Amino acid sequence: MAAIRCRCGWKITVSGEIPNPLEWKIISDVQFDGFAGVVDAEEIYLAARSQFKCPVCGRLWVFWDGFDQDPSCYAPEGDD
Ligand SMILES: [Zn+2]
Repeated sequence: MAAIRCRCGWKITVSGEIPNPLEWKIISDVQFDGFAGVVDAEEIYLAARSQFKCPVCGRLWVFWDGFDQDPSCYAPEGDD
């Protein structure tokens, strides 16, 4: 998956530029708690999930189960 077509129409590039300015890493508190002391940043990087934030509408596309599975989409709520 090289790109996500966001529901607003924006094309979010998933692969390419490193570091990707649209990519955020998330890790559960439980997983993070499994690390202790001095840790190789790469280990945390590999344990974390990737999500991408659309720069136009703010939707988050979360790859909970790796890049082989489709991401889940989360949209900000409006003010109404
Ligand atoms: Zn969007």
